[in-house]
Amino acid sequence: MPVVANYSLQAHNTMALPCRAAGFFTLRNDHDLDVLLETLHGQWRAQPLLILGGGSNVLLLEDFPGLVVHPGQRDIELLADHDNEVLLRVGAGRNWHDLVEWSVGRGYHGLQNLALIPGLCGAAPIQNIGAYGVEFSDCCVQVELCDLASGQCFALQRDDCEFHYRHSIFKTARARNWLVTAITLRLQHQAEPKLDYPGLRAALQQQNPGDCSTTDSASAHSPAAIAAAVCRLRRSKLPDPARLGNCGSFFKNPLVDAQQLHSLLAKAPQMPHWPVADSTAPGHSKLSAGWLIEQCGWKGRRRGAAGVHSQHALVLVNHGGASGMDIWQLACDIRSSVAERFGLVLEPEPVIIPTQN
Ligand SMILES: Cc1cc2nc3c(=O)[nH]c(=O)nc-3n(C[C@H](O)[C@H](O)[C@H](O)COP(=O)(O)OP(=O)(O)OC[C@H]3O[C@@H](n4cnc5c(N)ncnc54)[C@H](O)[C@@H]3O)c2cc1C
Repeated sequence: MPVVANYSLQAHNTMALPCRAAGFFTLRNDHDLDVLLETLHGQWRAQPLLILGGGSNVLLLEDFPGLVVHPGQRDIELLADHDNEVLLRVGAGRNWHDLVEWSVGRGYHGLQNLALIPGLCGAAPIQNIGAYGVEFSDCCVQVELCDLASGQCFALQRDDCEFHYRHSIFKTARARNWLVTAITLRLQHQAEPKLDYPGLRAALQQQNPGDCSTTDSASAHSPAAIAAAVCRLRRSKLPDPARLGNCGSFFKNPLVDAQQLHSLLAKAPQMPHWPVADSTAPGHSKLSAGWLIEQCGWKGRRRGAAGVHSQHALVLVNHGGASGMDIWQLACDIRSSVAERFGLVLEPEPVIIPTQN
């Protein structure tokens, strides 16, 4: 029987919430996909459906009353390797950081700034994961999908994925039943490293004290060296979900237009802001949601087992024993106080299940 009933999701969400699923289906290969489609037209027809990768970007508020589908296909296929270009096809169930390590271990450029982001490869396109000045969309060629409602499999090219900051077509209602089965990425043998993100260059130099910026050596800026620096920076800033339940940044950084920025700066001149590189939001600036939350006095606060991390106001944590609702209540109160003080409504980054307004 491919469906496991009454399955605990505690090890499948990085907030470590003790929710259960009515059914749990692990997809390991193409044959399993056929079985899944049959299952969805049989006993599980008309039941709620949730695709769950590593559970690092979801907040489960209660037990899930339907079928949870967990992608498990982990293959990496080298599709092409000529001139400077490497094309890889990766199964949706591959751990993202494993893929980054695999690629930098071979000297490929492209994924090094995205090291140590939790979760599986199939989820990378969903919110267009990004860190240290690089986004998934920068190396995406295509995303392979199966519409679990119709059973049709198809692929979307990068330009059709509507990638923006923490957004893609896969977050829209149209994609509600789309399962990402594989991704294709374009990496390079040689490329200019992206080191503009504050702190990254300094972290690299600390790692390589002999290196100075005027004589950048190839090995000091190799993909593996950059990935190591990114890992070090991330470990120094973000709590490890294996030790302290969390789902990374709980809110997106708000985007504001020039007029909004002007009036916000009139009230709070020290507010950090930076221009948005996204061509869909010309003239907009990004604000730091963490700074806004900190200004409202939330950093390090704790309410029962739910809390705000002491070093990173953007990260909500489960100190042990919190429910999804405890975390969500805290998030709503944070949102209200930021709205009251700055007139900005913060948008959650994780997917809230079931959906809340
Ligand atoms: C400590 C920490 C740090 C983080 N840092 C970052 C960061 O720097 N940048 C960043 O962008 N994110 C970050 N995140 C968020 C998270 O790691 C990413 O969003 C990641 O891609 C989620 O992967 P997942 O497999 O855990 O997805 P899940 O949490 O399982 O799912 C997230 C959403 O994607 C959907 N989904 C998952 N897999 C599929 C699939 N195969 N097909 C269709 N839909 C699917 C789910 O239904 C859900 O809606 C961080 C999280 C944590 C805990």
